[in-house]
Amino acid sequence: MSTEQRLIDKYFRRDNSPDDVVAGIGDDAAVLRPAPGNELVAAVDTLAEAVHFPRGLASRFVGWRALAVNLSDLAAMGAEPSWALLSLSVPAADESWFSGFASGFFRLAEEYDVALVGGDTVRGPLSISVTVLGQVPAGVALTRSGARPGDRLFVSGNPGAAALGLQSLQGLAGNERYQPAFLQPHPRIALGRALRGLASAVIDISDGLGMDCKRLADASGVAIDIDPERLAGVAAAGDVANALSGGDDYELAFTVPAAQRSKLPAQFAAVEIGEVCHGRGVNMPGFDDPGLSGYDHFRNEDT
Ligand code: ADP
Ligand code: MG
Repeated sequence: MSTEQRLIDKYFRRDNSPDDVVAGIGDDAAVLRPAPGNELVAAVDTLAEAVHFPRGLASRFVGWRALAVNLSDLAAMGAEPSWALLSLSVPAADESWFSGFASGFFRLAEEYDVALVGGDTVRGPLSISVTVLGQVPAGVALTRSGARPGDRLFVSGNPGAAALGLQSLQGLAGNERYQPAFLQPHPRIALGRALRGLASAVIDISDGLGMDCKRLADASGVAIDIDPERLAGVAAAGDVANALSGGDDYELAFTVPAAQRSKLPAQFAAVEIGEVCHGRGVNMPGFDDPGLSGYDHFRNEDT
């Protein structure tokens, strides 16, 4: 048996195949059975070492985050995750790395009831790409484009927390108590599901609240006004600038028609921080362009 085959069997193949997996790891492709009347929701995200996580980060956190970032995209669509595919590029067949990676990945996969049904394993620079497939009843998936003037803007969690946690992991300023927000985020699947039929638009704020609100505003053809005092009330460490620009928060920003606000279940502790208006872009008193701050991989390219 090849080393590659042995690693796959040892770390990624699990016997407990759910009913909706007709064929999983071990065949040329997975055969999956969505529930009747559902639509499939698909997302893929890649994590590259030194870009998306610091070099040398313990592999159990890499495994957790590689799945979490994708689940967050499904949460923003109001979808339930079902299956995942994992494409791994690793520099060496390091058993302890694989073992840690699999433990982090499967801890989250079990928590969210996601089955790993296939993937690919190659040698190369450390990079992990996960594809998740989820389901929603036909016609109810949430999008970025339905916000209308008068709707209220909400956010879950404490925006900026992951950025402060990452800084502290890197020995920069930041704040140690926010490290879990970076290392082991809990994507908001249950909140996304609760927003079906309630939210007019949803986005996950993985690239920073400011930039992601701008994307939501652009997709909806509206402007978003953020109230700095309300944002300060939920921003990690009360840091409004960091809350706008810090990335890696796998939380949701969403808009709800004003008349529907009371239907938002309190258990999710989502907080109103602004309003949808006529116009374009994101506005917040005291900030020139809050929608420009955020993570952009190609910001410093000359193109
Ligand atoms: P093929 O050459 O047909 O693509 P592989 O040898 O790459 O097959 O993979 C064998 C089986 O193991 C396939 O079912 C594939 O989906 C699965 N697999 C490979 N790598 C991974 C991984 N990192 N995680 C999960 N499944 C994997
Ligand atoms: Mg293959």
